[in-house]
Amino acid sequence: MKPFDFRHAESADDAIDAAIHGATYLAGGTNLFDLMKSGVEQPSALIDLRRLAMTSITTTDTGGVFIEAGVTNSALANHQLIRSQYPVVSHAILSGATTQLRNMATAGGNLLQRTRCPYFMQTAFPECNKRKPGSGCAAINGFHREHAIFGASDDCVAIHPSDMAVALAMLDAVVHVKSSTGRRSIPISKFFALPGRTPEVDNTLQPHDLILGIELPPSHLHEHSWYLKVRDRHSYAFALVSVAAGLRIEDGGITDAALALGGVAAKPWRLQEAEASLIGRRPDAHAFRTAATIAMAGAQPLRQNAFKVDLGRHSIVRALTLAAIDRRIASAPTAR
Ligand code: SF4
Repeated sequence: MKPFDFRHAESADDAIDAAIHGATYLAGGTNLFDLMKSGVEQPSALIDLRRLAMTSITTTDTGGVFIEAGVTNSALANHQLIRSQYPVVSHAILSGATTQLRNMATAGGNLLQRTRCPYFMQTAFPECNKRKPGSGCAAINGFHREHAIFGASDDCVAIHPSDMAVALAMLDAVVHVKSSTGRRSIPISKFFALPGRTPEVDNTLQPHDLILGIELPPSHLHEHSWYLKVRDRHSYAFALVSVAAGLRIEDGGITDAALALGGVAAKPWRLQEAEASLIGRRPDAHAFRTAATIAMAGAQPLRQNAFKVDLGRHSIVRALTLAAIDRRIASAPTAR
């Protein structure tokens, strides 16, 4: 590993100043250290954010929740407010990684984790467009079973690996950031970037932006929500396809619906047309199958991952079916 300078930040402004002078932010380090050890990332300096005490989860004036960026995934998943009001977030987080990793990883870092495309992660492979712009994409004509079926480009077909982000997309979360010029907020729908001609860019953050936290607006989907993750093995694996589903059911009919897919694009893939198709319907198999067909209609699979289209369709039906059952916290999944 290339040598680097290291120090703890004394304040958010101190961290931003260090970033302006070339340092890379360090939070939990669960992804960054892997990339440093493999040589994909080679920062000259790290500025550690872990003494900034950005670890609270509080209610907002509008009835939502504000999660500070340094809250660990474990603390977030197990927080009573999250488990009761946003169980899909808890469910998504607990479906990812391992207990040890969740104890280190943070909410802010979770959003910034990088794709696990093997051509990107492993320097034994030649450079790729995400590591070195203009060097090509080996995955398109190589191994791409786990890659994107929505929103990809000729320059990159990678997916975003976060489970939490899929739940946040379903809930219309807002990311709050700070830079040397002040604070601003970014809707999660505008936070992640599709590859286009610039696959090296993962998100819409500006250089040196520091994530302060994530705001969850008030939600009325908590009584009927579910996170379904389909993967090659039951634990410690990334999603082939995942679904965050939320319904509001009143007098036997669906009055609101939210759906997002993971494992299919470089960002959580929100499914507004499928959601709209559910409004006014009874929560039954016919309505769910119709929504799932609409959801997957625009998929553009590659040679090895056409199975994701059927898998996505079936997963949406199953997630909606499970969401329609009022489970709430009593049967929220536990960590594996
Ligand atoms: Fe690199 Fe993206 Fe192609 Fe993977 S899919 S090899 S990350 S350019």
